[in-house]
Amino acid sequence: MTVPKHRQPKKGDSAPELAASNPVVLEVWARAAGRCQFFGCPEYLLKDNVTDLAAKLGDVAHIVARKRKGPRGNDPLPLEKRNELENLMLACPNHHKRIDNKRLEARYPVHLLRQYKHDHEERIFALTSLGPDCETAVIRLVGKIREDVPTISDQEVRTATLESLHRVPRFLAGKRTEEINLAGLPSRSASYWTVAREIISEEIRRIKPDLEQKKITHLSIFALARIWGEDKPTAAQREAVEASSPREEPVRGE
Ligand SMILES: [Zn+2]
Repeated sequence: MTVPKHRQPKKGDSAPELAASNPVVLEVWARAAGRCQFFGCPEYLLKDNVTDLAAKLGDVAHIVARKRKGPRGNDPLPLEKRNELENLMLACPNHHKRIDNKRLEARYPVHLLRQYKHDHEERIFALTSLGPDCETAVIRLVGKIREDVPTISDQEVRTATLESLHRVPRFLAGKRTEEINLAGLPSRSASYWTVAREIISEEIRRIKPDLEQKKITHLSIFALARIWGEDKPTAAQREAVEASSPREEPVRGE
């Protein structure tokens, strides 16, 4: 589309438009590892969260605007440097809109956005330098607590292992659902504990070869389910557990 002549910026007022095919665009995406670089966001911009399909959800944003009249555009950075890597950051649509809002210009000065970009790229660089010896294999277990089924998200696991252990999580099941799901068990049934134990044992048997062959050297277990506490079975229920048939088919979670 051709911009009408009267709307074209005067020469000297703007850097040229940044074409999507410009190699610097790819470099911005790569350095940001596909995540929004706004502090505390860091939304992943290469997959739609709802559909789980590949997508391109972000934009390359200018720290100092391409145009002199744009956001932070009166910065002394020469026009010919405004389309260079150091002046470009990856942003989700929400944060791109926010930092490009002229009314919020004072809240997002050049030095702050440069800091966001710099800190994000440092983190990516540090994280991607971690080798396989910094991995921890993750097992998640969930079951009903009273009537609620808790969730343990991938992000919660990542935060916990990185912050507490300085380890990168490896999800054993390679899928988003919980690896061990006890939510389908009848929680008031006396067989709950027997069946739950069998399901857990089966998972342990499944990963045992990897443990023995040292393919897994560190394991992190996240478990949120009933424990032997206030729901402690009565003596009659314990007897029923002991008497329950060992051939009873385990009830699988969904
Ligand atoms: Zn964002």
